[in-house]
Amino acid sequence: MDYYSTNGQSPPVSLREAVMRGLARDGGLYMPSSVPVLPQSFFSSIDSLKFTEIAFEVACAFLKDDVDEEIIAGIVDESLDFPVPVKKVAGNVYCLELFHGPTMAFKDVGARFMSRLMAYLYKDESKALNVIVATSGDTGSAVAAGFHGVEGINVFVLFPRGKVSPLQQKQITTWGGNIHAVEVDGSFDDCQRLAKIMLVDRDLSSRMVLTSANSINIARLIPQSFYYFFAYSRLKYSGRPVVFSVPSGNFGNLTAGLMAGAAGLPVHKFIASTNANDVFPKFLESGKYIPSPSLQTISNAMDVGDPSNFSRINDLMGQSIDSFRESIISWSFGDSETENAIKKLWSDTGYIMDPHGAVAYLGLTRYLEESDDDVSGVFLGTAHPAKFPETMDRIINGTVKPPPQLEGVLKREEKFHSMGIDPAEFREFIIDINL
Ligand SMILES: *Cc1c(COP(=O)(O)O)cnc(C)c1O
Repeated sequence: MDYYSTNGQSPPVSLREAVMRGLARDGGLYMPSSVPVLPQSFFSSIDSLKFTEIAFEVACAFLKDDVDEEIIAGIVDESLDFPVPVKKVAGNVYCLELFHGPTMAFKDVGARFMSRLMAYLYKDESKALNVIVATSGDTGSAVAAGFHGVEGINVFVLFPRGKVSPLQQKQITTWGGNIHAVEVDGSFDDCQRLAKIMLVDRDLSSRMVLTSANSINIARLIPQSFYYFFAYSRLKYSGRPVVFSVPSGNFGNLTAGLMAGAAGLPVHKFIASTNANDVFPKFLESGKYIPSPSLQTISNAMDVGDPSNFSRINDLMGQSIDSFRESIISWSFGDSETENAIKKLWSDTGYIMDPHGAVAYLGLTRYLEESDDDVSGVFLGTAHPAKFPETMDRIINGTVKPPPQLEGVLKREEKFHSMGIDPAEFREFIIDINL
């Protein structure tokens, strides 16, 4: 299958090329030239399949032209070795819990799958491979965990100083070895810009292979579509249409959901739930996409003022504002609403949401209030609440017990390189590591 650039100025490329480049030379993002549609027989029996079986079927639909089925099966089984349970929270409200992987955030799904797919696609490459990732928190830790110890691959994780939680910082900076943590004196958008500049630098790419592990890399998006199919399979028995509320920042997760929809998954509606960073809901309202500087919130992994996956969604929607409005509803919620929602659901039911999942919960409950549709509503729980101890302590007056994955990381020592936002400085650092 070919992958085209959303900017339309670079020629279509193979899967290997799309994964290797991350970003196309024209600055666009790669998308499959056609989204494969899964057969009706798959949907008829989907409720009898395990998560990894569903993932295998969907992965084959996307990748089988480029990767042997046994290899796909191996990548699926190795990367998806943790559960993604659908938990009933109240009435017809369900949480798709995506936080049971090694770093306790949904980004584990994409990062683990991508690292293994990359290792396979690069197995015959002679130049060293360098993976660059900008993070506002969870991406960096998931990518670091996913790639740590992978032979022949250097990973650079750029994070904004003081803007990731202390625990996230530990999860980024304590790996050592092939994982290079870089603290940037700037915002997440600065980190993202630095990463993009390096990826289109012709001199660097003549010396080494450079690629991205951000949600701009298509190798992360494909596996993220798997869990939408899984959630549907578990709720199919009810006969009610399914609505997904997605807590959105760079909109990779929503893009993956829309790809699942394009591949035939019956989804009644997507809700793009954002924090105060409301570029997308404003776009749906006015039809104008106007990026703005990111604002800091308690759901900091969603503090994005110019979501990088917008162009992909625009293509999936046929660049028509009417299609956008037909498939997606979007609302923005402030920190105090988010805190109140966490507090209320916790005192009503005992269920504890993290601030990101809570934004999605708010979007879902607003939809259920405003619409007459009899649906099963799924909000995506994207991080474990124990990842945000300061915030959670304040909201629920108590500590969320850290799962075992998190306990170990707190004891390890941090090591990182600090720099400003000058691309030349970062460029030199990358070259030095590759000497
Ligand atoms: C990254 C992240 C998000 C936002 O996902 P996007 O794909 O960037 O929209 C939401 N919640 C958590 C916990 C995250 O780490």
